[in-house]
Amino acid sequence: MKILVIWLAFAGCAAGAAEWSDAQIQGALNAAYAKYRDLNEGKNADYIPALAKVDAKIYGIALVTAEGKVYTAGDVKSQVSIQSISKVFTMAKVMEEQGTEAIEKRIGVDPTGMRFNSIVAVEWAQKLLGGPEINPLVNPGAITATSMLAGETREGIWNSLLGFYSECAGRRLGVDKEVFESESATNQRNQAIGYLMYAYEFIKKEPLRATDIYTEQCSVSVNAKDLAAMAATLANGGKNPVTGRQVMKAEIIPGVLAVMAIAGLYDDSGKWLYHTGLPAKSGVGGGIIAVAPGRFGIAVISPPLDAAGNSVRAQKAITDISNALGANPYRVLPR
Ligand code: GLU
Repeated sequence: MKILVIWLAFAGCAAGAAEWSDAQIQGALNAAYAKYRDLNEGKNADYIPALAKVDAKIYGIALVTAEGKVYTAGDVKSQVSIQSISKVFTMAKVMEEQGTEAIEKRIGVDPTGMRFNSIVAVEWAQKLLGGPEINPLVNPGAITATSMLAGETREGIWNSLLGFYSECAGRRLGVDKEVFESESATNQRNQAIGYLMYAYEFIKKEPLRATDIYTEQCSVSVNAKDLAAMAATLANGGKNPVTGRQVMKAEIIPGVLAVMAIAGLYDDSGKWLYHTGLPAKSGVGGGIIAVAPGRFGIAVISPPLDAAGNSVRAQKAITDISNALGANPYRVLPR
């Protein structure tokens, strides 16, 4: 009997999300929500002053399947700033506009092994590795990716970028003005990074404009459902499964997910992949998205972060849910 149950679990995993019943999926979300609701670990990011003021109790889980079914648990209405999760979608937009090789050639697709806002990582790659050896999920690569977006005016570039994020989320997104102002007043390090990337000619013009747009993209407000739909768009070959709109070409998705897999959770990206097998991205606002290719996108929002900068509850809840639903793509039965 036990063997049969295990076999059924694996068969369900191989067959896709459609094989899991609504009750199984909702049950996995409810269980993870209840298990970590009272967890009191971690601390809001405070290097951006506005983030320290966000309600640390916000805790919401959303899962959107590749068929467009939406499951939620907890608070999926409260919004936080998207922060670094935006980097995934800016990278995707650049690949959409310029082809899959654009990011690899100009920025690189390798882990740096250093902090997300490390200047040493740039120097190291430049002096010792001789060129584009970082990735678009650390700040130097992310600000460079933003500088590569098509458009002439700041307004034009911004409207197109926000439109792209909104298509992925399935609703018109807006900016948290308080976070944008707070981060703009304290982003001197990112400005320095922008200038450094300009000095090395990764950024071709107006590094401060690129940094400013990057700062605004990090300030976009999202709830857990928005993020799950964005993740599900990546899980579903670039087509938002809720709206049915093809937001980006399917051919760019493998590259986007690969970069998420190597660098999505800061210095704990390896540990994360080891335990879940899923490409993911976290942000210092407290959100994490993860993608089970062909099956679902999942997101959890909970602002308190661990020492690596990843939401404590979000990591635990997503790991439990994805493992309960057999989502690790590396886990297969021998033939
Ligand atoms: N806007 C933040 C920064 O550049 C993003 C950091 C993050 O979420 O990792 O510092």
